[in-house]
Amino acid sequence: MSSAPTTGAEARIGSGLAGLPDLTDLLVVGLGVTGAGVALDAASRGLDVVAVDAHDLAFGTSRWSSKLVHGGLRYLAKGQLGVAHESAVERGILMDVTAPHLTHPMPMLLPLMSSVGHAQAGLARVGFAAGDLLRRSAGTRVGTLPHPRRISRTEVLAMAPGLRAAGLRGGLLSWDGQLEDDARLVTCIARTAVAHGAQARTRVRVLEATGTTATLRDEHTGETRTITARAVVNATGVWAGDLVDVHLRPSRGTHLVLRAATLPGLTTAVTVPVPAATNRFVFLLPQPDGTIYVGLTDEPVKGPVPDVPEPTDAEIGFLLDVIAAAFDRPLRRADVVGAYAGLRPLLDSDGSTADLSRRHAVLTSDSGVVTVVGGKLTTYRRMAEDAVDATGLADGRCRTRSLPLLGAVPRAGLAQVEAPTRLVRRFGAEAPLVLENARTVTGLSDEELLAPVAPHLPATLAELVFGVTHEGAADVDDLLDRRTRIGLVPADKDLAVPVAERALQLVSIHRTSQM
Ligand SMILES: Cc1cc2nc3c(=O)[nH]c(=O)nc-3n(C[C@H](O)[C@H](O)[C@H](O)COP(=O)(O)OP(=O)(O)OC[C@H]3O[C@@H](n4cnc5c(N)ncnc54)[C@H](O)[C@@H]3O)c2cc1C
Repeated sequence: MSSAPTTGAEARIGSGLAGLPDLTDLLVVGLGVTGAGVALDAASRGLDVVAVDAHDLAFGTSRWSSKLVHGGLRYLAKGQLGVAHESAVERGILMDVTAPHLTHPMPMLLPLMSSVGHAQAGLARVGFAAGDLLRRSAGTRVGTLPHPRRISRTEVLAMAPGLRAAGLRGGLLSWDGQLEDDARLVTCIARTAVAHGAQARTRVRVLEATGTTATLRDEHTGETRTITARAVVNATGVWAGDLVDVHLRPSRGTHLVLRAATLPGLTTAVTVPVPAATNRFVFLLPQPDGTIYVGLTDEPVKGPVPDVPEPTDAEIGFLLDVIAAAFDRPLRRADVVGAYAGLRPLLDSDGSTADLSRRHAVLTSDSGVVTVVGGKLTTYRRMAEDAVDATGLADGRCRTRSLPLLGAVPRAGLAQVEAPTRLVRRFGAEAPLVLENARTVTGLSDEELLAPVAPHLPATLAELVFGVTHEGAADVDDLLDRRTRIGLVPADKDLAVPVAERALQLVSIHRTSQM
């Protein structure tokens, strides 16, 4: 049985094989949102858990999302009531119970432009009303996600200045959830699992697995080792077919990154209809860190699955053209400061994608490996519950529905956390721990620890140090691409490299002095 929960200060993610046991109850392969969720579910039911990732936490699809906590409206439109309800329930759990510190309500505006006919607007209104019913049926308070409403042309232009005013009749405003950062959610879930006794390691690749054994390779040293487990869960997303016989047909979703100053004053997400297409939209999503994402595409991908998918020029051009047509201000390629792509792990079900991916599937291979695939970030908790149930290991009932992640406090309580706003936004109630840890490890002043990495980059040395000491970051890329998201803008990453190197060096000096 796993050890009793520890505090956040003791919950540290490691890197490499050293110190891992030869025997465990459950081996979890992959530390995206799904694997981290499985590790937490199992550890909180009292199982011994070892969870590993070949690269890093959130290395795969989980860091390339739109960072939305969806309510399931899209499933409703397809008549998939059960899936829609599940999504709305999980959104409510994330926003109100498990991660209020990493989620917030996001207004979403559908401007009624000349390209949106009255019939389309009427349909959208019915859809938003149905979405609101879904929220209510899921038990999510209207204080968390307000009712949708029609707003005037003046209100639209106040929320999204620069929208093309000619022909604008007003707008429809609805609400969904937004994540502070998808990779941060994964890191937080993984550390919460560790706080419940799991061992989580980056840079450990599973070379092969059966339902009870696996060969692991330390990606730092090349050492290999066999581990015996009572069950193995394969949560490797688009790579699931490398370990067991499942067939995936990945589809690429691309986003652009713009600076907030490109569309000044934008305070809401905007849904822009794709000209001459029915029911196809491009979204503008303002982020808490001074950027705006524009997404997304849906392109089938053939051939081997790359480690890091690349957006194509055609996708970048398409996204830019659609939003440029909706704004008075000209938007050019030079405004695109970054672009990223992620692969949806679509299950190939006999030739039809059948939207299975957007549901999740739990499949047990002939050798007993339990694979959990599909779904989305929003539903990770439920996916994890189903996967752990499928192993047949746990006597106890799933606890994660009411288990706050590390740092969680009710939204209203966040203002009372005594720490800099930037840290509270990313660590919730753990923000004071992040700062205290950096003081102890580095001996530097708060002024140095809390200075922004660059004038327009609010990340701090304090959080980079925490990334190394507690979150398993082993190099500059881990720190800049996943513990913070500075790497989404390559020019910003170049600026931040020296600070990330300094964080790694300071921790290394501290560790040497402790030996
Ligand atoms: C463009 C896009 C936008 C999206 N937007 C949203 C959104 O806004 N909201 C939402 O709810 N969902 C969204 N989704 C869906 C969501 O991002 C995914 O469903 C989810 O992140 C999948 O997570 P995962 O953990 O299953 O896979 P991954 O995140 O890919 O994790 C798999 C992990 O397994 C590791 N791995 C692979 N092979 C091995 C091995 N042999 N040994 C050890 N480790 C291994 C990888 O390194 C990786 O870290 C989006 C998806 C896409 C593509």
